[in-house]
Amino acid sequence: MEDIQLAPYNLAHFRRQPPRQFEADPLLQRQAARESNARSYPRRIPLALKAAQGLYVQDTREQLFMDCLAGAGTLALGHNHPCTLAAMRATLDSGVPLHTLDLTTPVKDLFVETLFAALPPAFAAEARIQFCGPTGADGIEAAIKLAKIATGRKGVLCFSGGYHGMTHGALSLMGNLGPKQLPGSLMPDVQVLPYPYDYRCPFALGGEAGIDAGLSYIGQLLSDPESGVPLPAAVVVEVVQGEGGVIPAPVRWLQGLRKLTREHGVVLIIDEVQSGIGRTGRMFAFEHAAIEPDVLVLSKAIGGGLPLAVVVYRQALDVWTPGAHAGTFRGNQLAMAAGTATLRYIRDEGVVANAERMGDYLMTRLRQLQRDYPCIGDVRGRGLMVGVEIVSTDAGQGRVPAGDGVLAKAVQQGCLREGVILELGGRHGAVLRFLPPLTIGCEEIDTLVEKLEIALAAQAVRKRCAQPVVAGSPASTGEAGAIPA
Ligand code: PLP
Repeated sequence: MEDIQLAPYNLAHFRRQPPRQFEADPLLQRQAARESNARSYPRRIPLALKAAQGLYVQDTREQLFMDCLAGAGTLALGHNHPCTLAAMRATLDSGVPLHTLDLTTPVKDLFVETLFAALPPAFAAEARIQFCGPTGADGIEAAIKLAKIATGRKGVLCFSGGYHGMTHGALSLMGNLGPKQLPGSLMPDVQVLPYPYDYRCPFALGGEAGIDAGLSYIGQLLSDPESGVPLPAAVVVEVVQGEGGVIPAPVRWLQGLRKLTREHGVVLIIDEVQSGIGRTGRMFAFEHAAIEPDVLVLSKAIGGGLPLAVVVYRQALDVWTPGAHAGTFRGNQLAMAAGTATLRYIRDEGVVANAERMGDYLMTRLRQLQRDYPCIGDVRGRGLMVGVEIVSTDAGQGRVPAGDGVLAKAVQQGCLREGVILELGGRHGAVLRFLPPLTIGCEEIDTLVEKLEIALAAQAVRKRCAQPVVAGSPASTGEAGAIPA
């Protein structure tokens, strides 16, 4: 893969940096004074960023960080990748109108052709694309409307732990009750189903039995004339729940869900806003299960770091009347150019395979750490969408200990002091989430795990038999673990 490291945005420079300091910064103070109380990331990541390249960001105090949040999974190629910058510059210099509503341009035409070439051929052959407002939530809103209009039904099924955005319709599909309860009333006719969260199986079964129980439950709901739930327009699902705590749905469960929705004529909306475009080690996460959606929602990485969302769906559903779904910002040419460049780079430079290999390597290294740290309850993920569930080690815990959000936050803050930006998710915020750029390499993962271990050790949660970790000690050189080819 092309070497895109420019000094000082490299591992050697990162490793030379002392623990990061977070003393008062005038930008952060002004942000706190001026911006809404709804601001979220700055509370856990109190940084003012001034420069970035690839995996690395630099703050206004000249400190270097590894960004394993990457715009909540948006920056598939990391920050300011040369291919996206070049595409944006060429677009600016070409004189193409930068804003075109839904009128077409050569830039848009190329984007659509490139995206369709990346879709599974059978799906692409029958697909239509809808450009909607530029956020993931906009895509979800469009998909729900389309399914309701196409089926003439009004209900929507979604899953516990699900996250689809913060607009009223999308919020009504959310698992987390915190933001959901605040507005009072949301979209009606929504039913929440159990998601196959193997570590905390909603049926207390786990494994194959848990999958069977989940599918049987959904099958009953769709076929029982006394289920109390009218046949819905759509089921909305994430193949890997991201914000819900990085929970991959098992392949057999996804295949069963596809079969049930097809049998009952229910539209299957797959939300790949976060998991799409190579993130999980496939171009689209549904490819792991060899299934196809009826409606696919894409955003985040599809715009190469700029705002863009699309809904791609089976032609038979294309029942919109002209203008039935509009929006001013559907024609962002810079985002389409950056998106095309990202898709091409991912296709041509082996990025999807790298995401799969590096994801496996990261999970292997984290599972090695799990042996020494009983507070690591579960390590899971697909590709470079990886989560570590932090659990209580207090006595009297059952077979599956409770999630420990307080400890997870302390570890996340410790990682930040060591220069690693991680996000929290899942129930009680107990899951450390890893969403690095898909171009990350082994050495960077070794350093990342080393820094995590320092943060864990600082919380005195290591098993007594193991040696304490000191930065720079042999135990912290990150050499353990098989480096994949
Ligand atoms: N769907 C999924 C799976 C997401 O992860 C997100 C955001 O994280 C959304 C939808 C909403 O996207 P946006 O924040 O752009 O509205």
